[in-house]
Amino acid sequence: MESEGVKSTPPTLPVGDPQDTSFLTSDLRAALLTYLSEEEVAQAERAYHVSARAHQGQRRRSGEPYISHPMAVAAILAGMHMNIETINAAILHDVIEDTEVSKEDIVAQFGEEVAELVDGVSKLTQIDFESHQEAQAENLRKMLLAMVRDIRVIIIKLADRLHNMRTLGAMPLKKRRRISQETLDIYAPIANRLGMNDLRTELQDLSFAELHPMRFRILSEAIRKARGNRREIIGKIEATLFERLTHAGLKDFEVKGRVKHIYSLYQKMLTKHLSFNEVFDVYAFRITVSSVDACYRVLGMVHNFYKPVPGRFKDYIAIPKTNGYQSLHTVLFGPYGVHMEIQIRSYDMAKVADAGVAAHWLYKLGDGDSDSTQTHTRKWLSGLLDLQKNTGSSIEFLENVKIDLFPEEVYVFSPKGKILELPRGATVVDFAYAVHSDIGNTCVAAKVDRRLVPLSTPLSSGQTVEILTAPNAHPSPSWLNFVVSGKARSNIRHYLKNLEHNEASELGRRMLEKILRSRGRTLAELEPWVNEELLREFKLYSIERLFGEIGMGNRPAVLVAKRIEELSHDRPNQPRPRPHVIKDVLHRYMPTWLGGGRTNAHPLAIKGSEGMVVTYAKCCMPIPGDPIQGFISAGRGIVIHDRNCKNIKEFKNAPEKWVDVEWDADQSREYPVAIRILARNRRGVLATIAATIADMGVNTRDVVIGNDEGAVSSLIFTIDVKNRVHLARVMRRIRVLEDVVKITRKKA
Ligand code: MN
Repeated sequence: MESEGVKSTPPTLPVGDPQDTSFLTSDLRAALLTYLSEEEVAQAERAYHVSARAHQGQRRRSGEPYISHPMAVAAILAGMHMNIETINAAILHDVIEDTEVSKEDIVAQFGEEVAELVDGVSKLTQIDFESHQEAQAENLRKMLLAMVRDIRVIIIKLADRLHNMRTLGAMPLKKRRRISQETLDIYAPIANRLGMNDLRTELQDLSFAELHPMRFRILSEAIRKARGNRREIIGKIEATLFERLTHAGLKDFEVKGRVKHIYSLYQKMLTKHLSFNEVFDVYAFRITVSSVDACYRVLGMVHNFYKPVPGRFKDYIAIPKTNGYQSLHTVLFGPYGVHMEIQIRSYDMAKVADAGVAAHWLYKLGDGDSDSTQTHTRKWLSGLLDLQKNTGSSIEFLENVKIDLFPEEVYVFSPKGKILELPRGATVVDFAYAVHSDIGNTCVAAKVDRRLVPLSTPLSSGQTVEILTAPNAHPSPSWLNFVVSGKARSNIRHYLKNLEHNEASELGRRMLEKILRSRGRTLAELEPWVNEELLREFKLYSIERLFGEIGMGNRPAVLVAKRIEELSHDRPNQPRPRPHVIKDVLHRYMPTWLGGGRTNAHPLAIKGSEGMVVTYAKCCMPIPGDPIQGFISAGRGIVIHDRNCKNIKEFKNAPEKWVDVEWDADQSREYPVAIRILARNRRGVLATIAATIADMGVNTRDVVIGNDEGAVSSLIFTIDVKNRVHLARVMRRIRVLEDVVKITRKKA
């Protein structure tokens, strides 16, 4: 016996009367008779008498006769249509451990098979998970090995745990928490590994309710409310899907709105740092069909009805999950602006998805392809046996088993077979940094199981990952959007910081050079002592640092240039002239079009390759060909605006922030620009415009659909173009489209 509680001895009441067959005349008997023969049910009745007599006088903490517990466990297993040996073993599962009845007694009365099962469950019951790591590893090993010998042992144990969790209320608080934690740590992962989803989700929700009663209450309440609010939408979408699929000629199928269980929502909020609304604002539907073939046909149909969200399609039919789960998953942009998660599976797959390994008994599935969980489990278990033979310590064994039992971590292999542990959700880039920071810094692509994949690809356990590097490659700021490991994150940040310094230093040097040239000087002819004096005054240890300070916008280039001029007129050991009033100096360097005294002879050329220290204002999105003006922004370098941008006003009284710039004729990149299109509200108009843009080889960054203005709607496309000429060409092509009313460049 374990968690189910303390039993009071000596007996105070004669309970478990051998003549009393009430348990078998009730629901359990009826449940058994739905799939077992009369003779078999008679055997169960006999098991009941033996068990009831043995447990006589024992009570559960709740006060009920103890026999009620094994009978409830048997009832759970009857619901899974487990065979008579399993049912008998469940009824007798605590007698070896807690009563005078021996294994030999059971062999004599019920046969070897039942006795082995009861013995197996008893051994698991003795396992104490509260111990230290070594002992814990040993326990888990025992548990898994018992499972290897006969999977039904663990199924009985899971049913046992489920009933104990359902009746936890009578336990003292501390024990309830301990048992719940153990359920989450050990039993739920095992249920998951065996694909027994219904059982797993119930175990998780019950444990969660015990461990975090407040959070459980708040979440349940929020879910209840949200469900009420969206019942109508779900119903409408369900009906629409049903109608469209029927119209497309599909027969024999079901469409159902799907409810996610509380613990998985909670996990999602934790791991993805999402609010309740973000997690819950997804509508989930399941479409069940008659054949594998129909699954793929339905996938095609729904992708035709609603646009799929890129990168979210998963084919677990071709590549089942390790626990045998099969289904197609996709996410669609649904009506009412909602995301719809769709699962598509056959009726057979649905059975396996809920009951996992137990589907074998429940649905009498054959050993063919439909019974993939059985096959997978058998393979996994025989693998465990090999592992057991080949590993020395329990801890080592546990490390290996963890791979498929605890999916919070991902275990992947290097091409040479070295195993790396990464946090769940880790991508190719995380892997690269886990191997070595140099590999991370220079990775450009990867092969996962010999297939070329993008760097943002998330990894799953068992994959072999080979990183492709290029000597001149370097980390991109966008990587920070998808890496999950601390190592990758800190390495990328560190690199970008250095890069920024280098870019800033290069930009600062150019800015200073420009100004000096306009005054008839160059950096090259700077006398070394001027150099040294500058660094001494500015308290910097290298001239690169000084350039960096200028490039980052922390020190105005004009003032540095001014100081250089002054120093150059100086001789060492002579008194230095008083610095001029700043406004005067600035005025001299200001461009004429802004009222300054300087001609526009030496603006800074912008190539687009300046990196992070030159950025382009989001309000006016300047592109080559536009008149531009740069503004120094402390810590960020130069921000480029269109000269006609309204936001320039705020710099009017801060001329020290102005930098005169122009587009370099030699451009190294494309620039984002926004266009606003008014188009007639016709079906397919958005797709036509998008296709026209794509046809021209132009990248679309973003599309925003503005407010509906009756028969006309406004679409804002953000696209990448080389320059104004290029933009004009794109706009001309769109303007002539049939439903386009008007097209303009959009500036804030
Ligand atoms: Mn029990």
